[in-house]
Amino acid sequence: MVDSQIRARGVRDERVLKAMEKIPRHLFVEPALEDQAYADTPLPIGEGQTISQPYMVALMTEAMNLKGHEKVLEIGTGSGYQTAILAELAEQVFSVERIASLAAQARKILDALKYFNVAIRVGDGTLGWKEEAPFDAIIVTAGAPHIPRPLVEQLAIGGRLVIPVGGRFTQELYRVTRLSSDPEDVKKEALGGCRFVDLIGEHGWRH
Ligand code: SAH
Repeated sequence: MVDSQIRARGVRDERVLKAMEKIPRHLFVEPALEDQAYADTPLPIGEGQTISQPYMVALMTEAMNLKGHEKVLEIGTGSGYQTAILAELAEQVFSVERIASLAAQARKILDALKYFNVAIRVGDGTLGWKEEAPFDAIIVTAGAPHIPRPLVEQLAIGGRLVIPVGGRFTQELYRVTRLSSDPEDVKKEALGGCRFVDLIGEHGWRH
């Protein structure tokens, strides 16, 4: 998976590649789909949601530019697979999921794998996690109609927000870097097209 799908498409961050080699992706999918866990595709995880394609996980994680000391926020825990990657690459991970059953299942697997540097909360992640801000990096793994303002406000100066933004069926992946204490003062880079399930919440789709 790592060589043919990820390295071959240009992901170069060795820490990201190593984390993806280490984490057993098959534990994060339903037993019936285990034999497809390392395929080049997203897979259903129940509740109409999906575990992201391995390449997309790698691309987004690389864009966060993590060195190991960071406090990061993830919106859309889902299966917990991306969460585990972040737990390998950053110091502390805060993850928000709106569907309680998915959060509970992810918690179970992350505990079994001994990722004790992860906190998961059930709620609307478009509001961020104010008590724990600022974050060095934020990743949103669902498609947003626009960039949720609370997330930019909760970025540290120099912090990176990686988020798919666009319509309901396709989005553009953006990296938004906060440049100063003014949350309007950001650099936006487009990283390519993608397709995610809806980000549903106060600063997302209203359903
Ligand atoms: N990274 C996950 C992606 C799961 S799909 C994985 O690879 O398994 C996106 C997830 O975002 C879904 O679980 C969905 O329930 C969740 N989600 C959508 N809107 C949300 C919101 N406002 N706050 C938190 N989670 C949200």
